[in-house]
Amino acid sequence: MSHPHPELSAPSELPKGGLRIYPLGGLGEVGRNMTVLEYDGRLLIVDCGVLFPEESHPGVDLILPDFDAIRDRLDQVEALVLTHGHEDHIGATPYLLRERGDIPLVGSELTLALLDSKLREHRLKETVHHKVKAGDRLTLGPYELEFVAVNHSIPDALAVAIRTGTSLVLHTGDFKMDQLPLDGRITDLRAFARLGEEGVDLFLTDSTNAEVPGFTTSEQNIAPVLDSVFSGSDQRIIVACFASHVHRVQQVLDTAVRHRRKVGYVGRSMVRNMGIAQDLGYLHVPPDVMVDAKDLADLAPERQVLISTGSQGEPMSALSRIAQRNHNFVHIEEGDTVILASSLIPGNENAVYKVINGLTRLGAKVVHKGNALVHVSGHASAGELLYAYNVVRPRNVLPVHGEFRHMKANADLARATGVENVVIAEDGVVVDLIEGVASIAGKVDCGYVFVDGSNIGDITESDLKDRRILGEEGFVSVIVVIDSVSGKVSSGPEIHARGFAEDDKAFDDIKQPIIDAIDRAIREGTDDTYQLQQVVRRVVGRWVNRELRRRPMIIPVVIEA
Ligand SMILES: [Zn+2]
Ligand SMILES: [Zn+2]
Repeated sequence: MSHPHPELSAPSELPKGGLRIYPLGGLGEVGRNMTVLEYDGRLLIVDCGVLFPEESHPGVDLILPDFDAIRDRLDQVEALVLTHGHEDHIGATPYLLRERGDIPLVGSELTLALLDSKLREHRLKETVHHKVKAGDRLTLGPYELEFVAVNHSIPDALAVAIRTGTSLVLHTGDFKMDQLPLDGRITDLRAFARLGEEGVDLFLTDSTNAEVPGFTTSEQNIAPVLDSVFSGSDQRIIVACFASHVHRVQQVLDTAVRHRRKVGYVGRSMVRNMGIAQDLGYLHVPPDVMVDAKDLADLAPERQVLISTGSQGEPMSALSRIAQRNHNFVHIEEGDTVILASSLIPGNENAVYKVINGLTRLGAKVVHKGNALVHVSGHASAGELLYAYNVVRPRNVLPVHGEFRHMKANADLARATGVENVVIAEDGVVVDLIEGVASIAGKVDCGYVFVDGSNIGDITESDLKDRRILGEEGFVSVIVVIDSVSGKVSSGPEIHARGFAEDDKAFDDIKQPIIDAIDRAIREGTDDTYQLQQVVRRVVGRWVNRELRRRPMIIPVVIEA
């Protein structure tokens, strides 16, 4: 990832009474949200999430925020505040706790419960938990926190107001303003207004849907659509959605009851998360509706509903395996219905369409947000953001959570309501709030940190470039042996190619030019095998590019014997 601000340098020392913001992830991408505040020598972290890799990150499992900027100062961290339980907000927490295991965690009941099951998977020991709910206040070092209910696509989400001796910051987390949410827990605009009256110096707001005009449709509007799809199906129904979308699952359960169907969960994270949500009372499971997914097949097809993971086309997920006919107990029959009750996260399009094609080929009818209202967003659209700005009337705004275009659209909305100072900062760009005015103060290093199997942070952009070249252009190895006495090629060149339509014989034409180039280089005084390898690489590279129109990875090996 190239840094967007080459002109910036490291920030100078923070003046007394100043508040510093380090965005370490999530500003410039949708994912790996992490914001660090510094005041009076103490740090407070808000969220610590992951970003899921795209096709341009072959072999990468996860992308983490870059902890480099605070790695030497982890002892100064007062706490990690988690606004809600989505992976892009809690997913990197185990990796942060590996670096300092006793960072206190602050979050709502459901958020901490989802996080705890993750920490157990990583075999991390319990740390101090501050379980909070809307309206609670909590003082940690120089920070006085107050939590505000917000409505989002997961229950129990919180905005956080942060008071220091000199300022009041309000961070929305992810939010929208559904006025009739399933659980009746609306975004608390009265609290937003009260904080606005007190004077919000800096307002950090969710940019995800800032480009979308109007208002995000209510979750309730999905129910009639589910009803009509259920009515139109006389076979099995499979619904895929996010494994954390408790209210979406609730709607499917309620619809299943109305249509006298039974429900089973497929996918490990769905079983786990819905178990947690049910135990804590966030999911209300009607009596006699749940069946173990494996036993569901004993019922008539028109009595079955499966709720599955894999709505983003993740290759190892239940739905992908069902679409490829290699799920161990779910097999699509002609006439089954599959509902993708989910968003399409940018970057996942190809994978999702592959799954839809696979399911359709097996005879399923696929219903998705492109052909029916089976999904609504979890984020505030432009109209809701305008309300938020008019209610809070902040002095300064820092758009967060979005690609650059989302943050720019959000900044324009803030300005349109009369906010005088709006700062757009991407990951690593440090923003200072000094005497009520926010401004860019410098930058810190903030790259992608890749998790690949058990390896964290050692895979670099250049390794990924190699993987992309290997994947797209193939590989050519050239082995040449040089007689150390005569200085002549004594064996080879032996050429092997992988990922080419042509067989190795196609490379016969280049063997003599390689020998000639080596002879010439040695006559001209080159005796270092590394330099001779570069000669071979250039000759082969030019030839392959000209004759085969390819730019493969070339591994030349020159041996003196
Ligand atoms: Zn979220
Ligand atoms: Zn998010």
